[in-house]
Amino acid sequence: MRLAELRGPRDFVVVDADLPVPGRDELLVRVGACGVCASELSSWTGSRPVEYPVRIGHEVTGTVVEVGAEVTDFVVGERVAVWATGAGYAEYVSARAEHCRPVPAAMATELALLEPIACASNAVEAADVRLGDRVIVVGAGFMGLLVTRLLALRGVTQLIVADSRPDTLKLARTLGATETVDVSREPLEDAVERLTGGRGMDMTFEVTGAQSALDVIGDLTRMSGTLVLVGFHLGEPRRIPLAQWNWLAFRLVNAHFRDPAVIMRGMSVGMALLATGQLDLSRLVTHRFALEDVNEAFAAAVSKPEGFVKAVVEIEPAAVGAEEEHG
Ligand SMILES: [Zn+2]
Repeated sequence: MRLAELRGPRDFVVVDADLPVPGRDELLVRVGACGVCASELSSWTGSRPVEYPVRIGHEVTGTVVEVGAEVTDFVVGERVAVWATGAGYAEYVSARAEHCRPVPAAMATELALLEPIACASNAVEAADVRLGDRVIVVGAGFMGLLVTRLLALRGVTQLIVADSRPDTLKLARTLGATETVDVSREPLEDAVERLTGGRGMDMTFEVTGAQSALDVIGDLTRMSGTLVLVGFHLGEPRRIPLAQWNWLAFRLVNAHFRDPAVIMRGMSVGMALLATGQLDLSRLVTHRFALEDVNEAFAAAVSKPEGFVKAVVEIEPAAVGAEEEHG
């Protein structure tokens, strides 16, 4: 089968790899699409050292082609969203059945990216957002926009979204933001002061993964409010104004989840929201690439051209071969 292996910075190479052999509690899944995740970009650019070659890609959706002997709740031909442990930019992955969720028939394969939805819904739940809260989302990338939509569902009364890209702020308003702030035009502290009448936010979601956001989120938040860290802070150590955060008695929520049970519960919640149409990725999956063009997919995710929110790599099955062997 074809698999895109990351050989070095900006250097995915499509190689011929052995078909994974599913274990007794696993599924073999023919990959339909794999989402490009912000957490993978530093491996591709080389800004964070990794051991090359490496096989990444975890936001997989596809079709079950083989079922392990102990698996009882999936059948061949069923479409699934998969939390893969890597090697997702490939024609096939094997995954534990308990890390998969069924995809409703009406949903397009590339719109069932459950792993990022799980992260976003777990973040909103861990933060314990209350009805009537005033909330700000700093950073309106794919994850920030997912969080925005989920916060709107949670019944907050003021939902401000801040970013420097007018296109993504426009999208945020369609997803439920009550106000948006273009931080390239107005300092965020001033905007929040103006928009809250000086009261500040009850809750601030940091979804940038950048030092600059950590510098400012304490200035946006009321005394005894909540700071929620959703962004990935990989690489260089960050500085936080702990004296301020301590003095103002902020509640800190580290919205990063590693426990598989928590992630899988988030995937179930996410699928329920997708299946009922309360969440819809059709306006968020903006860029689609073939497996051979996976480097371009990552380049787009790094440079974020106008209108960019999320890239997926769509994997067409090879013309002859594997499917017949495993169908
Ligand atoms: Zn991801």
